[in-house]
Amino acid sequence: MSEQFGFETRMIHAGSRPEAVSGARQTPIFQNTSYVFQDVDHAADLFNLQDFGFIYSRLTNPTVSVLEERMASLEGGRGATCCASGHAAQLLIMQALMHPGSRVVVSTKLYGGSITQFGKTFKKFGWHGDFVDTNDLDAVDAAMTEDTKAIFVESLANPGGVVSDLEGLAKIANAHGVPLIVDNTLATPYLCRPFEWGADIVVHSTTKYMSGNGTSLGGCVVDSGTFNWAQNNRFPSLAAPEEAYHGLIFHETFGDMAMTAYLHAVGLRDLGASMAPQNAFQTILGSETLSLRMDRHCENALKIATYLEGHPAITSVSYAGLKSSSFYDLGQKYLPKGQGAVFTAQLKGGFEAGVKLVESVNLFSHLANVGDARSLVLHPASTTHRQLTPEQRSSAGAGDDIVRLSIGLETVEDLVRDLDQALST
Ligand SMILES: *Cc1c(COP(=O)(O)O)cnc(C)c1O
Repeated sequence: MSEQFGFETRMIHAGSRPEAVSGARQTPIFQNTSYVFQDVDHAADLFNLQDFGFIYSRLTNPTVSVLEERMASLEGGRGATCCASGHAAQLLIMQALMHPGSRVVVSTKLYGGSITQFGKTFKKFGWHGDFVDTNDLDAVDAAMTEDTKAIFVESLANPGGVVSDLEGLAKIANAHGVPLIVDNTLATPYLCRPFEWGADIVVHSTTKYMSGNGTSLGGCVVDSGTFNWAQNNRFPSLAAPEEAYHGLIFHETFGDMAMTAYLHAVGLRDLGASMAPQNAFQTILGSETLSLRMDRHCENALKIATYLEGHPAITSVSYAGLKSSSFYDLGQKYLPKGQGAVFTAQLKGGFEAGVKLVESVNLFSHLANVGDARSLVLHPASTTHRQLTPEQRSSAGAGDDIVRLSIGLETVEDLVRDLDQALST
């Protein structure tokens, strides 16, 4: 759906048409593995990628396709590929770009699971993550090598209210002939527009705000369609002949849809991390109210962050919406509608105070998720970030005295009261 329509219109309509046979208005759940071919020639055209259509739900599924079109439209990209989880999205895009010996410059300020994925598990494929403080643009430039295939950052970084300088990072990536990949999970396309600042690829964990109810794992890779994969010889998956498709060159055959075609025809085909149609359906429902929810998430988060900053048990609060944040200016530039609803607070009482807080709250849920309608709290040092070294923890903004909050959609006074009793017991 074209961008001449407003964001809210696209949230509800992009990708979705009345179902052809019944006229059903909401997207049905196509709980199908496979689709009947019209005849042998039709089947051959589908398998040779000469015709678009449904073959088998590991590659494409009608319900998942609606969500893909919607995600592409909301981000202002050319095409999207949905998959089983946010981590699957990161695996899919890296598989398209990397080969044994390839490198990727990665922010030190990432979701804990992403640090482990890039730092440990990807190493088994011979892919090297060079971790850099990506708010230091000179350090990013210095880390680029001949083998570097991408820069990977989060727009709004989990967990510490860090905002990436997307415009500056895109310039460096461009100058080195590689794409800037932005994880836009915590910002969502409503709050942050990575492609407008020069990013080439956006990835999502749709598990979070896109679905919004804590029901459905999902991930998505959105391609801007503007990166030239043939500008150098670093991206043979896109720009060299693909043997499995009779020597087809994705970049030549599909143009600005090359990455999206590759991620379905090779990525999902061979890695198999497809999105379940039921999860696509739940995420489609969530996407319809995205802007309304994000406005309220941001409003509640700013109130809670302000309350906590004034509390005697708290040393500091890292929320880009607070004037005290070193990311305040970047937050106003890149997230002008609101700076999200996930942030950290530093407790005067250290590790023990963190444990006590998560065990004393009643309304907040103590669990490892963010971007739910419910308010959530977590002590990363004793949970999500416990596999990291103390140095990795503090450079990821998750030291022993840090708690992470994900502010939900409840009545904000009730949330304040819950934190008040938990901090004073
Ligand atoms: C949750 C999350 C991921 C991983 O997504 P899953 O859907 O849990 O695999 C990646 N990046 C960010 C910023 C996240 O919050």
